Amino acid sequence: MGYLLTVAVLAVLAWAAFEIIGLRVVRVSRRAVPLRQADAPPAQLPVAEESTADLAAETPRNLILVIADGFGFAHLTAARTTLHGINGASVWDRFSQTGWQRTHPVAGFLTDSGAAATALATGRPTNYEAIGVDVDGRQLETLFDRAVDRGYRTGVVTDSYIWDATPAAFITHSPQRGNDNAGAVLRQLGESSLEILVGELEDVGEDEVPEWEASVELLGERFEVLGPEADAALLRRLETGESPTLAIFEEDQVTDLESDPNLPSLAGAALRRLSSDQRPFLLLIESEEPDSAGHKNDFGRLLRGLEALEATLEMVLDFASEGGETLVVFTSDHESGGLALSIAEYHNMQLEAVWASRDHTGSVVPVLAVGPGAEVFGGSHANWELGRLLGRTLRQP
Ligand SMILES: [Zn+2]
Repeated sequence: MGYLLTVAVLAVLAWAAFEIIGLRVVRVSRRAVPLRQADAPPAQLPVAEESTADLAAETPRNLILVIADGFGFAHLTAARTTLHGINGASVWDRFSQTGWQRTHPVAGFLTDSGAAATALATGRPTNYEAIGVDVDGRQLETLFDRAVDRGYRTGVVTDSYIWDATPAAFITHSPQRGNDNAGAVLRQLGESSLEILVGELEDVGEDEVPEWEASVELLGERFEVLGPEADAALLRRLETGESPTLAIFEEDQVTDLESDPNLPSLAGAALRRLSSDQRPFLLLIESEEPDSAGHKNDFGRLLRGLEALEATLEMVLDFASEGGETLVVFTSDHESGGLALSIAEYHNMQLEAVWASRDHTGSVVPVLAVGPGAEVFGGSHANWELGRLLGRTLRQP
């Protein structure tokens, strides 16, 4: 009898915890199945420029590439539904072409920002954590190298640190990312032909990462240096400067719309600068927040980051639609956090975020494009195939 009573009391307590207090234990179900490395891409694929199979009908004058680090389809859903209501229109509907890409490195399932950005920047699959080099460590020509050769003005704006793998793989070369290589990446950024470089300096002085002053020195004398104090004068200088301009901020200074400066204001200044004459331009904009929030499983941070990303995209798409000569491509390097979105029960209007991981996942990620030449970006791609398509959008001089 005592046993039955105990069971009854426990059942009532469990019901109360579930229904009254709102305690819900979200169980992540795990089950592993074997994976095969079927049809791995040949690592040494030549970049066949002469192939016209997937050449677009039109070549854009300018290319704006927006990469949201760690952004998957659930992130897109989160942005749409929380910022605009379940059926609201949003910036994500303004792209004419939609597709997805596989993010895997040359061997294995999970990638990192280095291998993924290298594939996008060079059109070649490479090793996990490689930056701008092939599987044997040889330097690869990047999208930015090619753009500079063809007379483009170039710029990078990131809310991550400027030597982070995503921007680094488009400009620099290193067989292994990481703090040990921060100095080498900073030096190569300093020697690059970038006209604008905007980002944070992170882990300053930690491990092998140079101190602030040493970092500025490694970036060289080629840049006029702005920041970290941000004001209207900084944005004006970024927009109107005549010599190459570097704007550097402190760790997590640029995260959301409350940040001063924020991603849309920095990207807007860079965009107005690069579009100030008739030369074509290539601008890379990176939003790091989906990855940072994914590693911390922080839904609040993610939503604030997505708001800044949307404001940036609105600004970019307004610019592109006005002139009609700019191709805008949005994608990610990999998904982070294994984000899933649900509600506790039907008719409940509380969106729940469930994270399956504190790391990257191997899920496919969105590819969106609009503007001249956008039609080749719809459909399904490997990340390195997408890199080749990006390379072919650049005009001959
Ligand atoms: Zn990450």
